[in-house]
Amino acid sequence: MEIINNVKGTHDIFGEETNAYDYVESMMKSIAELYAFNGVRPPVLESDKVFSRGVGESSDIVRKEMYTFPDKGGRMLTLRPEFTAGIMRMVVQNKLYATNELPLKLYYCGPVFRYERPQLGRYRQFNQFGVESIGNNSPINDVEVIVLAYTILCSLGLEGVKIKLNTLGDEKSRDNYRSALREYFARHIDNMCEDCKQRYELNPLRILDCKVKEDQEIVKGAPKINNYLSDESKAIFIQVKDALDVLEIPYEIDDGLVRGLDYYSETVFEFHYVSKAGVDYGAVGAGGHYGKLMKELGGPELPGVGFSFGIERIVSVLKDDGGLKDIKQELDAYVMPLSEEALLYAQEVAILLRNSGGYRVDVCFDKTKLANMFKRAANKNAKFAIIIGEDEINKDSVILKDLAKQEQKEVKVDDLINKLDEHFDKEEE
Ligand code: AMP
Repeated sequence: MEIINNVKGTHDIFGEETNAYDYVESMMKSIAELYAFNGVRPPVLESDKVFSRGVGESSDIVRKEMYTFPDKGGRMLTLRPEFTAGIMRMVVQNKLYATNELPLKLYYCGPVFRYERPQLGRYRQFNQFGVESIGNNSPINDVEVIVLAYTILCSLGLEGVKIKLNTLGDEKSRDNYRSALREYFARHIDNMCEDCKQRYELNPLRILDCKVKEDQEIVKGAPKINNYLSDESKAIFIQVKDALDVLEIPYEIDDGLVRGLDYYSETVFEFHYVSKAGVDYGAVGAGGHYGKLMKELGGPELPGVGFSFGIERIVSVLKDDGGLKDIKQELDAYVMPLSEEALLYAQEVAILLRNSGGYRVDVCFDKTKLANMFKRAANKNAKFAIIIGEDEINKDSVILKDLAKQEQKEVKVDDLINKLDEHFDKEEE
């Protein structure tokens, strides 16, 4: 029979890589919880309108990257290409904003789907972790979210993360800026790529994100947003920068940073990383402030700010930088029955240690030589071997062997948890 392979642009996560994902995700969650964010789990499937209205018709995501299809009932559905619009749909539908204290602080983690050209570090199904802080307009709220993202990356051991910061201003600023961009690009657009021609019509801001080399040369000469900002937007950006200075968070201004999603306004940012070996991973995460998204989705006009990390990129950074060495799965004990008859007794001992002792325990199921079982215990990083032969079964005992010290003794099953507790308590001291 023919083997069935995974779908193009997806990837399987198994073995030690699973531990790496668990480690990264649980670190992100626990730090978000320190900052008083609460977890949410919106569905993977949403009505396509959530994203066409939320992320915006001019974004690359909506124009060409969404997995949208009719279900058997004829409803147009989309596999979420990002979380923010779906979370906002959830907040509006469930009136989560109707609380006596805003901002509403939410975090999420899970897969997203984009029909992109697969290449190194770019998948069609990948995982994101991120937060949304909804309902407060203070620039210091933007800053709290930036500091949280930066803290997570530092805690994971990514040294020298670069925060790139820009402002897109308010609607008035962006309208003025778009007009200036249209005027500038009118002279060049005939020589630019087909995508840019569409972007010119839909939203010339998107042209600044073009990855085509020749177009980038033209983009370099384009007007900059700073000259089109309203006084209010200028003041907000100054507050954000001043607060980051006070908190000693390093950043650099990148006036070409526009982000690929239409809902952003005012502050936007990206987190860039170059590994210890000098490999440029580009953005490992990004985010910004959004003023009108909730209104676009039929809710009240409450602003929000959020970021999103690409977990695949962060895991490969940590792999390359050697940041995953300490997260090997270890066994507390590996139980070795010396005969077929000892297997059930071995399971009883293992279940006791797991359920009453809280120890991580595995049992050898194969009839194999003792020497092989010790090799397996070493491969599983087991701290103890528990050997069970006929004698031990008759005496309600086991042989407990400390694999580091290579010392062994007979222990009654009733006393086994005590013995292990004593050992691990001592180790902790
Ligand atoms: P975005 O939602 O586009 O702002 O992306 C947030 C983060 O997700 C980026 O900074 C990347 O780290 C990651 N990311 C975006 N697209 C992909 C992809 N196709 N494959 C893997 N990671 C991605």
